[in-house]
Amino acid sequence: MRIDIVSVFPEYFEVLNLSLLGKAQAKGLVEVRAHNLRDWTHDVHHSVDDTPVGGGAGMVMKPEVWAECLDDLLDLAPAEFPMTMGDGAATDAAAYAATAGDAAAGGTAAAAASSGAVAATDDAAAADTVSAADTRVPADRPVLIFPNPSAPLFTQADATELSRAGHLLFGCGRYEGYDARIPTYYRAQGVDVREYSIGDYVLNGGEVATSVMLEAITRLIPGFMGNPDSIVEESYTGEGALLEHRQYTKPATWRGMNVPEVLLSGDHGKVDRFRRDEALARTSKIRPDLIERLDCQALGKADRKT
Ligand code: SAM
Repeated sequence: MRIDIVSVFPEYFEVLNLSLLGKAQAKGLVEVRAHNLRDWTHDVHHSVDDTPVGGGAGMVMKPEVWAECLDDLLDLAPAEFPMTMGDGAATDAAAYAATAGDAAAGGTAAAAASSGAVAATDDAAAADTVSAADTRVPADRPVLIFPNPSAPLFTQADATELSRAGHLLFGCGRYEGYDARIPTYYRAQGVDVREYSIGDYVLNGGEVATSVMLEAITRLIPGFMGNPDSIVEESYTGEGALLEHRQYTKPATWRGMNVPEVLLSGDHGKVDRFRRDEALARTSKIRPDLIERLDCQALGKADRKT
């Protein structure tokens, strides 16, 4: 997998040479390149930001600089919006939403198309409602990812899907964020563009969010983990997608506390059932929202196996 990261602080990503991701790079499983966005500026101050249109505090990242950089890394020629593809960008927006299988999003974009207005904001709003997990990534198509606190949450399902991609390109925002036309433009160019939040809080920049997503994605690449079984039964993973049961190691008694006796029984069926029950109990207490989304059929199948 090729991974490009664009940031005004590319040094942030030197840590990716450590630990398992460092080993994966040495093995040739992944190739990570961090780029400095300022390398695509032309002014003496290497500016990447400007004041917000409409007023307000802070600065916004400029589309021209981002576009020069992304065109280079995605090997695309500059184009005007609406593009000379099909009936133009509004149709692209509708097509994008329809391919992603989201009726509400398709409706919004289709309305924009029929009104003849190329509304970048409508396109963005439509795309926002599209769950990335509903789509599949072909290995030969680059995926452009913008961390964004006001986007849908990044999940284990997204990590699983993106671990099959051949090329990921992360664009790290700073300041008040990036000009909203950037993702809209690349979607209309036919690029698979994703915007993800890593949680309901605001960070200073996209670097930490990119590192989080990158780690969640790359550890799922076949061959990345020494023991592939260690990613099979984990929190948020598989058809059940529960929180994992608690884990214990030796000694069996530590500071007067015993590990649950059933785990010492050697009876794998009982151990599995105990863990499953604990996973269910913890999930319903800590994350009842996961229980609501649970696929009961899948759970029944898993239970019958134990
Ligand atoms: N003005 C934005 C807002 O209120 O939604 C916040 C911008 S934030 C200070 C700057 C950049 O940090 C964002 O463009 C994004 O790249 C990154 N960022 C901050 N919080 C994030 C989060 N929870 N998830 C993903 N990216 C985040």
